[in-house]
Amino acid sequence: MSDYKRTKCPKCGNENPRKIHEEPDKNTVLYYSMQGTPVYKMSCKCGLCGHKFDKN
Ligand SMILES: [Zn+2]
Repeated sequence: MSDYKRTKCPKCGNENPRKIHEEPDKNTVLYYSMQGTPVYKMSCKCGLCGHKFDKN
């Protein structure tokens, strides 16, 4: 057992971390840092099928 959280594409089932790219979802601001910089929610994009999904 491992508590390492795997990110898996819900569409094609890809769970190769090298094929999943994390990127900020610029439509969703989580909060603003003290410098006033927006911190975006991170979302994942599957490198195989191009599906975008939220990181859990
Ligand atoms: Zn996929």
